[in-house]
Amino acid sequence: MKIPNTIKAPTEKHHCITNLLVLISFMVKRFCNLCIPAPPKIPTFAPRMPRTEVVIEEPGIGPVNYRRRRGLRRLSVRVTARRGVSVSVPYLVSLATARAFVHDKTDWILRAVRQVRQQPTVSEQDPAEVAARIAELRRWAKAEIPARLEALAAAHGFTYNGVTIKKTVSRWGSCSATNHINISLYLMLLPEHLRDFVLLHELVHTRYKNHGPAFHAKMQELCGGREKELSREIRKYAGLPATLG
Ligand SMILES: [Zn+2]
Repeated sequence: MKIPNTIKAPTEKHHCITNLLVLISFMVKRFCNLCIPAPPKIPTFAPRMPRTEVVIEEPGIGPVNYRRRRGLRRLSVRVTARRGVSVSVPYLVSLATARAFVHDKTDWILRAVRQVRQQPTVSEQDPAEVAARIAELRRWAKAEIPARLEALAAAHGFTYNGVTIKKTVSRWGSCSATNHINISLYLMLLPEHLRDFVLLHELVHTRYKNHGPAFHAKMQELCGGREKELSREIRKYAGLPATLG
């Protein structure tokens, strides 16, 4: 989708590189006798992010929060009930590119917005009801997960030092350096084949501590070559724990 030209991205007049050049030029003038011409004007590139965070009203979408982040490799859009639409922008990507990406994903964003609006947020739910639901999930997880983990470990020749069910929202599972496996009680919200996928992922971590080629090769072997497909499928459930408290 083409970006409508009626929207103008903010530009920034005082950029830090310009400031740095002015400062260097000033210092050189000050400390040596050579006459230094004024630094060349820095050409204006695509609109830069004026701050690390900016909110722009995007046509057809509404307010979008663009956040500049160091250490990111890819542009990504996230839609949550609490923060609305937010875009993480890698340090070297211009705001214009980020906005073009958002326009390109308009359909997806609108669908995601409708979806999060339909889900009741935790604050709208009765706290007693939320607590009861979590207690029920915890009981269910404790009854199912340790036995299933043991069966999968035995079937594929893995050993681990124990398993704990936790109320973790940010991860489905983790494996410690001492091969203790932690599993989120929210795992019970996933279909059975994805539950197994998470348990296998943590079991493979008992042997390979990173996500290197050997780790993925083992996962591929255990999932019948469907590791990528299952990873994509599980991402659809990423926002689920947050809707249940
Ligand atoms: Zn992992």
